[in-house]
Formats: sequence, structure tokens, C-alpha cells
Amino acid sequence: MLENSNKQRYVSTRGHAAILDFEGVLLAGLATDGGLYVPERWPKLTDSDLRALAGLTFAELTARVMWPFVAGLMGEDDFQALVTDAYDDFDHQAVAPLVQLYHDTWLLELFHGPTLSFKDYALQIVGRLFDQVLTRRGERITIVGATSGDTGSAAIEACRDRETIDIIILHPAGRVSEVQRRQMTTVAADNVHNIAIEGTFDDCQNLVKAMFNDVPFRNDCRLGAVNSINWARIAAQTGYYVAAATTLGAPDRPVAFAVPTGNFGNVFAGYAAKQMGIPIDQLVIASNPNDILTRFFQTGTMTAKNVVPSISPSMDIQVSSNFERLLFDVMKRDGGAVGQAMEGFKVHGRFSIDDDQLAGLSDLFEAGRHDDEETRRAIDQIFGETGQLVDPHTAIGLSVGRARRRDPGTPMVALATAHPAKFPDAVEHATGVRPTLPDRLADLFEREERYDTLTNELSAVQDLIRTRIALSGAA
Ligand SMILES: *Cc1c(COP(=O)(O)O)cnc(C)c1O
Repeated sequence: MLENSNKQRYVSTRGHAAILDFEGVLLAGLATDGGLYVPERWPKLTDSDLRALAGLTFAELTARVMWPFVAGLMGEDDFQALVTDAYDDFDHQAVAPLVQLYHDTWLLELFHGPTLSFKDYALQIVGRLFDQVLTRRGERITIVGATSGDTGSAAIEACRDRETIDIIILHPAGRVSEVQRRQMTTVAADNVHNIAIEGTFDDCQNLVKAMFNDVPFRNDCRLGAVNSINWARIAAQTGYYVAAATTLGAPDRPVAFAVPTGNFGNVFAGYAAKQMGIPIDQLVIASNPNDILTRFFQTGTMTAKNVVPSISPSMDIQVSSNFERLLFDVMKRDGGAVGQAMEGFKVHGRFSIDDDQLAGLSDLFEAGRHDDEETRRAIDQIFGETGQLVDPHTAIGLSVGRARRRDPGTPMVALATAHPAKFPDAVEHATGVRPTLPDRLADLFEREERYDTLTNELSAVQDLIRTRIALSGAA
């Protein structure tokens, strides 16, 4: 049988955890050594593979592109059916339409899923993958995640009512938009549990990390993750990079992407697509005032600062967890060196790469930031020039991307990561026009909310989780 040799293996960025297959990394989330899983080798799409994608539906293309990561988990036809089902409910025929905004700039609309952000594109697949695998194994899992806004609702929509899953989402109290909060707290499903934490997104993320590092708790509650640290999400996000690139002429013509970035999950999927053979010339990382990545690309030193709330809250992060995956490649896949850098970062709040490493990264990556005022101006300018309302995250990506593009002859694709109606106040403030929610969410403000509020204390959160999953029927 060839099957085993085709199966992708995954290694931890810190080099000390077991090597796993796709099913293993799907269920594990974070590696036991604190690292993140990455493919042992990048699968390659040849030019003829890329040409063969022409004419496929978005779901067919995504299944084809993801398959080398997933192979061995189920049959290829079953996987294709799963991806088709995942995108069935999206409200645009093209699923991820590419809209030309300027002569040389396109918008890749990634807000046609149930919760109106790009996170639906991966999570609708990942929820189904979990359910299939757990049903086959006769197991249940408790998904625990932290959200700065959009992940939570997308994860909840992906997991709601699935028999094998409880989902617990922590969000920072008062620091997500009302639309974002209501998208999470109005879901009436017994397996969905929302907790507002009195703290920042990073506090929430640290609580989740601490729960995963508490091995007895992790085992008792059978914790799993759907944060962007879960490899399956990154794998699923490669689909739309490949779709946009081939639409604009890959493999014959290179393309650049501009990506509003927080945890580095989305832009890392662009990096993965490049490693797989997509001719990507440039990846522009766009941040808001929480500009740890922009500062890193200017200096080669990663230094943590406190989080500042902004009008693009899904990028209000202190650290970008997925950056460790890129660091692993920068450090020539030396897990020991990555572990040391990350330990240093934890203790001293900083680590550095050398000039050669920074120069290597800068061949592909470019970074820039917008503060809130610049973001509002960008929203207004884009609306004035193109008639398109964009949300604050999308505006930052588009505006920083256009300012930082290197080769004017290379088409630039800006990722529209959220629907403008998710951030109606910011958009209205900038343009005077209030964007309206799509039909499926029109009654959002009439729906009943359910959530608990807790202080930033691990034991309190753990107690609540134990109680909830006991009630909802986990043995
Ligand atoms: C999550 C999110 C981002 C940041 O994506 P990362 O993968 O964390 O870098 C940007 N914009 C929106 C609207 C988001 O929801």
C-alpha cells in the first residue's frame, strides 16, 4: 500500500513532541512541548497541478489543495463531499469572490460565511473534520478557545449542535463589538458555552494556554483547540490563496497579497501556499496600533507591549502565536533554537533574529501599520474612490498593501477579512454610511444572549468548564 508513504507527518516547532499525522494534529492543537505543529515537508503543487485547478468550484479547489495535508484521514471523495458541505451555506455562489477595486488591486471577499469573517472559511471545514473523526473513534471533545472577536463566533457556528463536541469560548469582557458578542452569545445550542473574562484578549489566550498546559485538566476534559494554532485551520486557509492566485494567472504570473494580521494565522497560510509552489512575490502584513510585527520587521527584534484597544479589535493582540511557525523555518527548522527564543521571549519579553535572517524574511514579507485615524481615513478614501464599503481590518490591509507594494506590475490581492456590517459604528463614523447586516443576521439584536462573566482566574474558569461539560452529557 502506498497510503502510508503519502501521509503527511507533522513536527513540533520546538522539536521535542511526538511526530503526528493529520488526525493527531487536528485533535492535539498545541504540541506537548509548547510548540506548534507544522508539516515535516511542504507538499508541492506543480505547474500542471495548478493549471488543472481551472474551472473547479471553490470547494473542489480547496479540497484538492488541502488533500496532501489530510490524506490518510478519510477517502478523497468523502473529503471532497465534506468541503462541499462546509461551503454549501455561504451566501455567494463563488464563495470567495475576487472583486477588482483598482486597475492593479483586487479584493478577495472572505465574508460570505455564517459569521461574516474569513474565519468561517477554515472553521466550517474544521468543525466537520472533528465530528467525523470523533464519531469514528467514539469520543467526545471539549473545544476551548480565546477570541478577540471573530474566531469565537466562527468556531461556535462550526461546532454548534455537533454531538461529539462541547465548545467553550472566552472573550475579553467589553472588548469585542456588540455584533461580535451577540453572534456568539445568541446561539441557542446546549453544547455552546460563552465566558466573558474581565481582562484583555491576551489574558483569555493565556488562560487557554494554561488549561492546555495543565495536563490532568487537559486529559480529564479532553481539550481540543480551534485557535489558529490548530494546523487544520492553516491548511484550510491555503485554499483561497491558491484560488485567487490561479484566477489572476498563476502559475504564469506572480501575485502579491495584503493581509490584515493579528495572530499571523492567515498570512502564514499565504506563506504555506508559497512553499507549496504558488508564485507569491510579496506578502504584506498590515497591523493596527498593536504593531509587534511591524516593529519586528523594522528591527529584527520581537518585543511585547501592552495591548491598546482599537477600531480593528480582531487584531488587538500582544503576541502573534503563529509567528513561531515562520520562526521555525527562519531558524532552519532547529526546534531547540526556536524553543530557546520562545523561552527568552516569555522571560524577557524579547528575542531577536540576525541581519541575514531578517534580510531573508524581507524578500517576501513587508509590514506596515495604521492607527485608528489612518484607518478611518482609509475606509473613507476607499469608499470615495471605489464605492466599496470595507471594514476597518480590510481597510488597513488594503491601504497598507497599496502603500507597500514593490512591483506595480504584480497584481495585489487584499484580503477582505470581515463584512463591513460587523463593525457598523467604525464604518459609519468614517464614511457617514451605515452598512446593513445581511439577511441571515437581520434579527441579531432581538435574539436572547447567554454567557457567564468571570475574573481572570484559571481555577474559576476550570471549575465552570467542568460543571458545564458534566451537564451537557460528557460521561
Ligand atoms: C482574526 C482576524 C484577523 C487576524 O487574522 P490572524 O489570522 O489572527 O492574523 C484580521 N481581520 C479579521 C476581521 C479577523 O477576524
